[in-house]
Amino acid sequence: MNLNLIDKLGPKTEKILNKINIFTVEDLLTYYPYKYNIIKFKNINEVDENLSYYIKSIVVSDVKVSYIKKNFNRMTFIARNNGNDFNVVIFNRAFLKKNLTINKNIVLIGKYNKLKNTFVASDIKFNIEEEKIEAIYHLTEGIKNDSMKRFINDALKLKVPINDYVPEIYNEKYKLINKEDAIKLIHNPNNINDIKMSELKLIYEELFIYMFKINYLKSINKKTKGLKKEFDENIIHDFLNNLSFKLTTDQEKTIKEILDDLKRETRMNRLILGDVGSGKTIVAIIALLANYLSGYQGAFMAPTEILAKQHYESLLNYFSDYNIKIDIITGSLTKKEKEKIYQRLKNNELDIIIGTHALLSENLIFNNLGLIITDEQHRFGVNQRNLLQNKGAHGQADVLYLSATPIPRTYALTIYGDLDVSQIKTKPNSRKEIKTKVINEKNIKEVLLKMLEELKLNHQIFVVSPLIEQNEEIDLNSVKLLKEKMNIAFNNKVPIEILHGKLKQQEKDKLMNDFQSGKIKVLISTTVIEVGINIPNASMIVVFNAERFGLATLHQLRGRVGRSDIQSYCYLITKDVNNERLKVMEDSNDGFYISEKDFEQRGQGDLFGVKQSGDMTFKIANIKRDYKILYQAKIDSEKYLSSGLFKGNSFYEKLIEKINFLD
Ligand code: ADP
Ligand code: MG
Repeated sequence: MNLNLIDKLGPKTEKILNKINIFTVEDLLTYYPYKYNIIKFKNINEVDENLSYYIKSIVVSDVKVSYIKKNFNRMTFIARNNGNDFNVVIFNRAFLKKNLTINKNIVLIGKYNKLKNTFVASDIKFNIEEEKIEAIYHLTEGIKNDSMKRFINDALKLKVPINDYVPEIYNEKYKLINKEDAIKLIHNPNNINDIKMSELKLIYEELFIYMFKINYLKSINKKTKGLKKEFDENIIHDFLNNLSFKLTTDQEKTIKEILDDLKRETRMNRLILGDVGSGKTIVAIIALLANYLSGYQGAFMAPTEILAKQHYESLLNYFSDYNIKIDIITGSLTKKEKEKIYQRLKNNELDIIIGTHALLSENLIFNNLGLIITDEQHRFGVNQRNLLQNKGAHGQADVLYLSATPIPRTYALTIYGDLDVSQIKTKPNSRKEIKTKVINEKNIKEVLLKMLEELKLNHQIFVVSPLIEQNEEIDLNSVKLLKEKMNIAFNNKVPIEILHGKLKQQEKDKLMNDFQSGKIKVLISTTVIEVGINIPNASMIVVFNAERFGLATLHQLRGRVGRSDIQSYCYLITKDVNNERLKVMEDSNDGFYISEKDFEQRGQGDLFGVKQSGDMTFKIANIKRDYKILYQAKIDSEKYLSSGLFKGNSFYEKLIEKINFLD
């Protein structure tokens, strides 16, 4: 339903709401509060003068009103709370005078000035509830919490038909309230129990739909025929024997699983979970080789241009002795250049194409695509991945996803339940542990000295500051100041650059290229560098305000160094040297261990980069906080699906329609 059905919601406000992804009345209804202010009554002698309170009081004097101007009046009286008498001042409420008789019970809302013994009220209420709960929404410039509340309450009055996607058996089993009530109550709870009941319903529903989708896809995938591939395994063994390093056990195991998948008649649908630096790329390369040897084209998609280029260069390098035709396609190519690639792909003149989202263009048609690899899969949504999949020969191409989200295995099997999962836990042997140190902000000198030491060895350094992304001039200044300080410390002899979100893509790419080629020695940046970039010569990462980052991010950041056999260092700078998370980082380099810890600390927050995935942006559920419900939803949806009883009924159809809509 169109937003203009809401009273006083004009085109200007609509634009503002669009910014926070509200486009329809339905979107308004499911724009849930992110927290509640629970207003409890206080006694007048307990309040903090700066805050507003609800004070239960009795009127103990006559009420005086003075009219200061037309439409501006001031009312005063004496009230009593908990045996204390105080003055009350309130403006423009003269119309309440007739209700304020002596001994009347009222609730005053406002702030208390102790010195003047005066309470400046913003409002007076007569119906005395036990506590008041106020829904608080994420807002954007130009919209206030009160207007958001009003829009939502108006939307509720429109009686939009609301679908409940929880099968009746589970609504009964868990005594879930009905969906309509849940939506009403989540916006207007009368008490804590209302919040709990409405959240439970909406969280369960969201996770049920998600797990239903996963299980549904799984059942379909099982049935999908694939391309049965035949290739000479000796060639692959020769290739492996010529590598300059020995594969780790988990790399070997994973390669075997992939080769078996390729030979099988069913379609491969496999996810490789490996920590940063665990060597996933070589595994992907073997898959591409086997696919090529079977006579098919291969596609390798990466989330950024830099990563795509990196893979392209690796492939050229690894396949230099083979007659494999490889090219790369990214957004920065001209139309002409792209068209040339389209032509070559269509005519089977290219064997392997690497690229960014540019691979998804509908003009790009393969001759016989047999394998699709998606790097950093969590950065792409399901629909994007499907787009590529549909380009496969007979829609049957094998699919491989690479992910640097080392999450606990049982957990992976739940949220990625539609895929087969391989884990690469072992790290290449030559790899040294990254020495990690938590440093008090005050001891920054120690860090600068260490940086200088590394620079003298001709190594490079990442510096990360969370401040840059916060948009404020002042923050950018503080980073510039940091650069100045470093320039002084290093005698202006070290090329230092700042990379931040406000720069144009081209400028960012140039900085990254210059860092990669060694022209820049110290790169100060935000978490932009989080994604897979490989700079083996970088031996140190310094993270400022480290306590602000979650374990997942810290681990990903640290993974930017230690990518060769030089000893690497990670310095975590903070005011809060006793921070639990930072201690975990000091203790371990093992992503799977750190993710277990992250999981144990549970609560809010992201589970190791999983949040970023396009298909897991839940409106209310948090798969880490709500993991028990997630497991239950997994079991329930499996049962529901396999029972088959519901097929053909309208409820089931609605559910299928719903999951087809989801990205
Ligand atoms: P990620 O899993 O993070 O994508 P990469 O595949 O980029 O990691 O590998 C990181 C580095 O480790 C690369 O330079 C790669 O050549 C190297 N590498 C991969 N496997 C091994 C191994 N078994 N022994 C030594 N070095 C390896
Ligand atoms: Mg990688």
